Amino acid sequence: MALRRKLFTLAAAAVAVGGIGLLLAQREYKSGIVFPEPPVVTPAAVDKPGGPPSDATVLFDGTKATFEKHFKNAEKWETDEKNGWATVKGSDVETKESFGDMQLHVEFATPEKVDPKQTGQGRGNSGVYIMGRYEVQILDSYENKTYFDGQCGALYKQQPPMVNACRKPGEWQTYDIIWEAPKFDADGKVTKPAVCTVLHNGVCVQNHFELKGGTYFDQPAKYVKHAEKAPFRLQNHGNPMRFRNIWVRELKPIVGKEPEKKPEEKKDGE
Ligand code: MG
Repeated sequence: MALRRKLFTLAAAAVAVGGIGLLLAQREYKSGIVFPEPPVVTPAAVDKPGGPPSDATVLFDGTKATFEKHFKNAEKWETDEKNGWATVKGSDVETKESFGDMQLHVEFATPEKVDPKQTGQGRGNSGVYIMGRYEVQILDSYENKTYFDGQCGALYKQQPPMVNACRKPGEWQTYDIIWEAPKFDADGKVTKPAVCTVLHNGVCVQNHFELKGGTYFDQPAKYVKHAEKAPFRLQNHGNPMRFRNIWVRELKPIVGKEPEKKPEEKKDGE
């Protein structure tokens, strides 16, 4: 019995020593790629959700001055500085700056008073025309039916939103759009389609959707070669939509440097 216990203790000790040895032999994996340090960005205060992070370009902060500085035709819209919003009037507005890959935050409200004669596409219609060509639809889709690939959160006539996350008419709503611009070769052929993710009121309604081309009312989607960066528009569709708190961040991936390969050591006799 004593011998058996001794043998058991010895076996247990051998397993423990082996385990420690294995642990010591394990090395941490490191890719060797040298990355630059990601810049520090201060996000919006916790009690101000939707506010611009420190590296955002604020395109509209409720003042006429910022609105007109960043958008063509902003003077045609009615800016209410006291309340910090602008109401659609007269024409689309278009950014003076051009954007490629970006994170875009837009807040909007469809008219509170609903005209019962206005239904479907006629109620609370606007849109974010990214690069002037690709529309993320804005519509009052709260208890207002229309074709699904034309309701709020749709990539117009290409893809309905996964869910209908609309708030009631008159309530403020948010879009957070992550956009990857398409790429073209010298002949105008698409080498990488545009990709779009949309959060509507914090709810993901488009998840990395690959666009089939520009969005049109009267023809199928198609790509037409354009610059790497382009302005975006907010649509005037004849409804007195309100907008506020618009900001954008350009998206640039962190690019690492591969380590230099050491020349292979020569073996004896070579
Ligand atoms: Mg529209």
